[in-house]
Amino acid sequence: PDIAVQIAAGEVIERPVSVVKELVENAIDAGASRIIVEIKGGGIEQLRVVDDGAGILSEEVLLAFQRHATSKVESADMLNAIPTLGFRGEALPSIAAVSQMAINTRPAATDAGFNAEFAWGKLISEGAHGCPPGTTIEVSDLFGNLPARRRFLKSATAESGRIHELVTRYSLAYPEVSFHLKVGDRVVLNTQGDGRRANAALAVYGAEVSESLLEIQEEDPETGYRVEGLAGDPSLHRANRTYMTFFVNRRWIQNRMLTFALEEAYHGLLPEKRYPLAALNLVVPYEDVDVNSHPAKREVRFRQDGKVYAALQRGVRAALVAYSP
Ligand code: ADP
Ligand code: MG
Repeated sequence: PDIAVQIAAGEVIERPVSVVKELVENAIDAGASRIIVEIKGGGIEQLRVVDDGAGILSEEVLLAFQRHATSKVESADMLNAIPTLGFRGEALPSIAAVSQMAINTRPAATDAGFNAEFAWGKLISEGAHGCPPGTTIEVSDLFGNLPARRRFLKSATAESGRIHELVTRYSLAYPEVSFHLKVGDRVVLNTQGDGRRANAALAVYGAEVSESLLEIQEEDPETGYRVEGLAGDPSLHRANRTYMTFFVNRRWIQNRMLTFALEEAYHGLLPEKRYPLAALNLVVPYEDVDVNSHPAKREVRFRQDGKVYAALQRGVRAALVAYSP
């Protein structure tokens, strides 16, 4: 494969969880109502993502594995108004460049599906292939062609843990999607996908924790920015910050300012050195967010940080008002 693809692959695909993230986001973009993730050996040995989404037309499958050929974004202007999670047309070719990869896909309205297999970026077989509607992607021997990359990965247990965490976060942000995660032979997560966030939280955290979660649904009248999701009541706290999850327009992001805003909203309610558990989605006009600043799309920039900060604090405080000292 050409060197540009290899470089891009290194930026988009850092470890097994990056593969799962890209494949899960593609499944969500394809309108899936059920997403199954199965991993073996930390996802390095093998990982599989099965969805019941729109599928890909036979004549378009190979195109989807060409870099930038299929970007969901049609023009540069659209970069500022991105309704789908994917937009660079980079993930599939990048994953294919560093693994052995197979895809089976079929749109529900077509009779035959399509199968293609790649090894280290090279197409090794393709053709019509019966399969259920939707898309199944299997990735094996990740970074088998890049030993230095492979050595940089953590243990299978640690890599599995990251994948578990990722799928958990997405299941909370997309309660209308049923997520199923299998690590080796063990089912570690199974959400109903009935649209109720409280039910997703129950599947993720169990009854005790989910009973202490407050439902948040607030619109800031000044800006129209909305915050929705779940946040722990003050009895529920954690010793570190990893239980604070933020989505912007349902894209999982990391952002210091949001973390700080959330901690501020709990000011005086939690013991020293304790942090809230929360999974919050901010609904912000697309043109006020720039998601194009990071290859893995994990960081976003806001046109006006202050508006976002205020909306988040307002939403969380409204839910916490009963607990205010
Ligand atoms: P992007 O998501 O940035 O468009 P990807 O490389 O992730 O690029 O995917 C390339 C294209 O392949 C997508 O634009 C989409 O048309 C198609 N695709 C990928 N995964 C799926 C899927 N699970 N279901 C349906 N279509 C898919
Ligand atoms: Mg994508």
